[in-house]
Amino acid sequence: MSPTQNFVIVGAGLAGATAATTLRDEGFEGRIHLIGAEAHHPYIRPPLSKDFLAGAAERDSVFVEPADWYGEHEIDLMLGTAVTDLDASGQRVVLDSGASIAYDAVLLATGSAPRRLDVPGADLAGVRYLRTLDDSEALHAELAGGGRRLVLVGSGWIGMEVAATARTLGNDVTVLERDPIPLANALGDELGTMFAELHTSHGVELRPSVVVESIMGEDGRADAVRLDDGDVIRADLVLVGVGAIPNIDLARSAGAALGSGVLTDAALRTDLPNVYAAGDIADAYHPIAGMRLRSEHWANALHGGAAAARSMLGHSVSYDDIPYFYTDQYDLGMEYSGFGPLTRGAEIVYRGDRARREFIAFWVVAGRVMAGMNVNVWDVNEAVQGIIRRGNLVDPHRLADPQVPLEEL
Ligand SMILES: Cc1cc2nc3c(=O)[nH]c(=O)nc-3n(C[C@H](O)[C@H](O)[C@H](O)COP(=O)(O)OP(=O)(O)OC[C@H]3O[C@@H](n4cnc5c(N)ncnc54)[C@H](O)[C@@H]3O)c2cc1C
Repeated sequence: MSPTQNFVIVGAGLAGATAATTLRDEGFEGRIHLIGAEAHHPYIRPPLSKDFLAGAAERDSVFVEPADWYGEHEIDLMLGTAVTDLDASGQRVVLDSGASIAYDAVLLATGSAPRRLDVPGADLAGVRYLRTLDDSEALHAELAGGGRRLVLVGSGWIGMEVAATARTLGNDVTVLERDPIPLANALGDELGTMFAELHTSHGVELRPSVVVESIMGEDGRADAVRLDDGDVIRADLVLVGVGAIPNIDLARSAGAALGSGVLTDAALRTDLPNVYAAGDIADAYHPIAGMRLRSEHWANALHGGAAAARSMLGHSVSYDDIPYFYTDQYDLGMEYSGFGPLTRGAEIVYRGDRARREFIAFWVVAGRVMAGMNVNVWDVNEAVQGIIRRGNLVDPHRLADPQVPLEEL
């Protein structure tokens, strides 16, 4: 690689930051521009709904690297700066200041934004979303003292994690969910019900199968949520957690091929020359799954960012990590690995004690494990991923038998 080369990374989140650190670790001596719309240097988001929101983690602990690390590694970190245009044929990005930067290769790592709630009153003060460090700090300030009435719209991962944190801080929590069972889309009814019971046992009021009609308020501030059956739930604050939308406008206007995100091959190359994508926005071909996958999770930002950097350097890359995520809610910790989209119609095989919430669940399709989730059982994730990666036919009885070492399956 020539020291005169110019690499641009759009988005200073985890994928972008990891790409920058990997470029330097791999010996890249050219210029690196890491451009981020937020004011903060790169940080990780998982603690924002968990221990950082609870006030149990130091602010410094969320940053990928200390602030001065970037300068020390000659990474031109441009914060509070949005890229407004990508000129793929001219190989330039345009900044919101109007300035432009030429590139030899560019990585798009623009992440996601919360899906907005589209009902009357959704723009009232007191209706919050959780994506950024600032969002989490503002929410912490509201919840830290306890005694507030928090109404959560949506019972996805972020909603459920905030519910757990808010309850632990002593707030009243009501969760409104359109579906009959929270998280059932991701985990199926049985395991979704386990999470529902976990929350109700901690005093969360779970209201499944409801439709939010509007947010009500006085003096411009939300104070209740009205359901379409006319029921009104009083709230001091409302948090909306109804999913995220990948930030793909830049790629779209540049003419990149899109699917559920920005389409890439297994080397995280888009169909535009010298344009790569990683993290939440990448709809990347997965060599083991044999299909394109988009993963809105921490591990994919970390490992995908690194893989994209190596690809930008011209290394031969086949990014085939098994998709992985985790959650912590109250005293339940879990890790999930595997191909969610390939688990439709799966038989779920359990190993361990479900009543005590200490088990591993395996999603088995046509005799092969497509996904696995360890709940309050630790140091097994590598073995679970190995089973998925090998794709061997497995005997469900041996899978369920804790006496059979996972490595032997
Ligand atoms: C509250 C919360 C909790 C989470 N918990 C978990 C968890 O427990 N486990 C898990 O696996 N995952 C979790 N996630 C998901 C995980 O954090 C994301 O998958 C990860 O942050 C994606 O990283 P990224 O770098 O692709 O995007 P992001 O982290 O979204 O970073 C992208 C950055 O790009 C910037 N940007 C966008 N457009 C432009 C532009 N045009 N110009 C310049 N900058 C731009 C954005 O402002 C943003 O800072 C959580 C997410 C949230 C919000």
